[in-house]
Amino acid sequence: MKLLLTLSSMVVTTAAFAVNGAACVADGTRPNCRNEPGSAGPLTVVSDFEGASVTDAVIDQNLRSISFMPGGNPERGWPCWWYFRIDGISPGEQITLKLKGATASVGNQKPLAASWATPKQATWSANGHTWLHTDDGNRHDEWMVYVLRPDTTSIFVAWGPPYTPRTATMFMKAIGATSPHAEAGELCRSREGRSVPLLHVREGQRSAKQRFGVWVQARQHAWECGSSWVAQGFAEWLVSEDPDAAWLRQHADIFVVPVMDVDNAATGNGGKNALPHDHNRDWSANPHWNEVQAAQRVVSELIEAGRMDVFLDLHNPAPGDSSFFYVLPQELLQEPMVRLRNRFIDLTYNRISRIKPLIPMSNKPKITGAGYHPLWRQISSNWVAMNGNPHTVSLCLETIWNYTNSTTDGYRAVGASLAAAVRDHLGEQTARE
Ligand SMILES: [Zn+2]
Repeated sequence: MKLLLTLSSMVVTTAAFAVNGAACVADGTRPNCRNEPGSAGPLTVVSDFEGASVTDAVIDQNLRSISFMPGGNPERGWPCWWYFRIDGISPGEQITLKLKGATASVGNQKPLAASWATPKQATWSANGHTWLHTDDGNRHDEWMVYVLRPDTTSIFVAWGPPYTPRTATMFMKAIGATSPHAEAGELCRSREGRSVPLLHVREGQRSAKQRFGVWVQARQHAWECGSSWVAQGFAEWLVSEDPDAAWLRQHADIFVVPVMDVDNAATGNGGKNALPHDHNRDWSANPHWNEVQAAQRVVSELIEAGRMDVFLDLHNPAPGDSSFFYVLPQELLQEPMVRLRNRFIDLTYNRISRIKPLIPMSNKPKITGAGYHPLWRQISSNWVAMNGNPHTVSLCLETIWNYTNSTTDGYRAVGASLAAAVRDHLGEQTARE
């Protein structure tokens, strides 16, 4: 369906499409080329590209403002993610974004609290690559209002720095081409047929059984884009020239999946609490999602070989939370698992709390036991802890998102610190012979 939004106060309820000249490809990777610099056109909202999400966009051409809600089908997860392009801007003019929480919900459930969808600062980009924060938004009744003054004719705006399956594929290709130790591959195909990129890093001649096993995955919840940037930062550090990174490559097999739920990440759906249950409630004997089946297969092979050493599942937490780990109650675990896990948390906290500019982190983990969720046994890090080796460290890391340093650089610094902590931890273990 195509809609051309040129009329004042036009309501968009589906993916909008700005009709561009034949040379302009509205694929979300390049800004609008219809408006020459300096030409004030009608503002248009474009959401026909990978990862985009917006609904009920109403454009006031006189006030140069756009009111909207996050899009997404609530049956495919919490509708808190939003991401779209605005064309027709006159460079230097003030654009106002008025955002409110989605009203869509599953059945007769209450809509999701607006706080999940309304960051203190919105994220925007003039080129789809460099993502910046707006100034703090202001609350007016049910609205969160952000003001921008872009120096360009077209911008992307989003809940946080987007990271789509295409971003993951391009990152893997780039890293695979530049590092002789990184192999870009595919974990599996999703239920909707999309490729799920997987990076495998190892260096040198050590055999598999002489190596530690490390599994890192992000985006079991599609809206939590920051976790993919953490995964990318992990991989970037891993292939770097840092001697600690080289040590880790030489002593371990490391697997990184930056986007698990590619289908919801590609279609702009939230993923969290998707029906029948989301990816991080799917780690059972019969997983519903292809990505979970495939990840479980590799992880199970590592467990059978006695080398499932570190399993990390990456997320973004609630709006008011700082960064922290989720863990199982220690009564459910045996030594040495508890001791190793607690040591790993200390090592990671030590690294992340030194990041500048600051990424706030709590050294007190939160518990995901029976009281947390009815499907707590099917949470990935719990499943791996309960089915892993005695020495397995299996954790969920939540990285703060509603914070001024929760940028691509901030998230990548968390990933680099986490990878360095994995090296610290494995350096304390007996080498595999
Ligand atoms: Zn999550």
